[in-house]
Amino acid sequence: MTTPTRITHLIGGQPWTGTAERTSPVFNPATGEQTGVLDLASASLVDEVVTQSAAAWEGWADASLAKRTQVLFAFRELLNERKEDIAALITAEHGKVLSDALGEVTRGLEVAEFACGIPQLLRGGFTENASTNVDVYSIRQPLGVVAVISPFNFPAMVPMWFIPIAIACGNAVVLKPSEKDPSAAVAIAALWKEAGLPDGIMQVVHGDKEAVDALLTHPEVKSVSFVGSTPIARYVYETGTAHGKRVQALGGAKNHMLVLPDADLDLAADAAVNAGFGSAGERCMAISALVAVEPIADELISKIKDRMGKLVTGDGTRGCDMGPLVTAQHRDKVTSYLDAGVAEGATLVVDGRQDEYESDGEGFFLAPTLFDHVKPGMSLYDDEIFGPVLSVVRVGSYDEGLKLINSNPYGNGTAIFTNDGGAARKFQRHVEVGMVGVNVPIPVPVSYYSFGGWKNSLFGDSHAHGMEGVHFFTRGKVVTSRWLDPSHGGLNLGFPQNV
Ligand code: NAD
Repeated sequence: MTTPTRITHLIGGQPWTGTAERTSPVFNPATGEQTGVLDLASASLVDEVVTQSAAAWEGWADASLAKRTQVLFAFRELLNERKEDIAALITAEHGKVLSDALGEVTRGLEVAEFACGIPQLLRGGFTENASTNVDVYSIRQPLGVVAVISPFNFPAMVPMWFIPIAIACGNAVVLKPSEKDPSAAVAIAALWKEAGLPDGIMQVVHGDKEAVDALLTHPEVKSVSFVGSTPIARYVYETGTAHGKRVQALGGAKNHMLVLPDADLDLAADAAVNAGFGSAGERCMAISALVAVEPIADELISKIKDRMGKLVTGDGTRGCDMGPLVTAQHRDKVTSYLDAGVAEGATLVVDGRQDEYESDGEGFFLAPTLFDHVKPGMSLYDDEIFGPVLSVVRVGSYDEGLKLINSNPYGNGTAIFTNDGGAARKFQRHVEVGMVGVNVPIPVPVSYYSFGGWKNSLFGDSHAHGMEGVHFFTRGKVVTSRWLDPSHGGLNLGFPQNV
């Protein structure tokens, strides 16, 4: 047994030296061992941090674009140099395999690269002589202190969807990472200081509902970027907006992959396995419902079963295909769906409950699991399970499949597998989902497009990163200007007309 390490807030560029009233355990999910003890912030500590950020903010808002860009480039270089270290921290607390953790850091890095172009992204418009001798121009200005509240499943990438853009736009960020795997966020935040960002512009407070509520109600917090489960996303959106904040709250998902009879079934089987079981299904873009248009279901299931037989589940540092679930409690919850699925009439094709896993300790494992004959109304289909459980739903036609997807209350990601361009085009036009893949199972947009779902997968109207991110973290202003000219004097109380 190792002694758990203390993990604390990063305030004013330094680890916090106070004594926490409450703490929370952090585990290595591959061994089941408690490796960390996390300080949880009280509401008064959050207040102190936000006040400090607000004081630091004005200097950063006034920093030239040239200065901000230098910091962003330096941060990009540092993160690129340290990405393996960050990936190791993710694997140690989240459990995902190292290659997957590295992939997550790389996708976060891409947002920093996008934000390096901030001078171009913030360029406004200019119209000369809109009216005689009157010029009009638009500018975008930072909001102030912005809060980012992130989930456990992407401890590096999700904070990075927001932070580089928020900082590049001239804001001060207070990040509240997930209490389950907080260390990657702290390590990334420390890199900002090394990159030359002034103290107080990137702060980290750890905590639970108390810290989140303090951020949602603090008058100096101008916006909230939240990612997590749907009930909390809805709560964050309602509470944050009721307190006058701009809020983007990304919620849960149930992503469907529609496979048409003309699809390449080997490609579809590879994609279903990768997207269903990667990161143990703990991805908001994971495929959890495989919608097979008959008559291909039997053949597709047989190909998926073959591939599942080759997967090794175990410790993410040992070259396994899939790691554990994040906590024992979450593993037990996911496992409970297996008995429920059978009781509700679905067919358990591959049972992921194994006696042995590739690990030394008692990790929180469940191997890939496959169900067939799943239908709406079964908990397997209706709930976001967030684990390595793939459900096959058989449908008779494309139209039936589309109707199923559009009836789902979530609308994060979806994919169609087909060789028919016309069908794919029809699908992308009519499907009510925010991110669509055509023969791509996890269509996470690149950093210069924006990430976001529809329906219960996103509250608010702003998606993450890309231009929507730049707009979210700035306020628009339009200036109408006329330099003194005696010919324009005189009284006229009418509404000015442009001449
Ligand atoms: P979660 O909702 O439990 O936690 C998310 C954040 O909210 C954490 O920082 C947590 O501390 C905080 N929180 C938890 N309970 C709270 C409460 N009662 N009041 C205030 N704050 C609270 O989510 P999670 O389990 O960490 O992450 C998994 C969920 O996130 C899944 O539903 C997944 O689909 C979703 N997710 C969505 C996206 C997306 O882009 N739509 C991306 C990643 C994850």
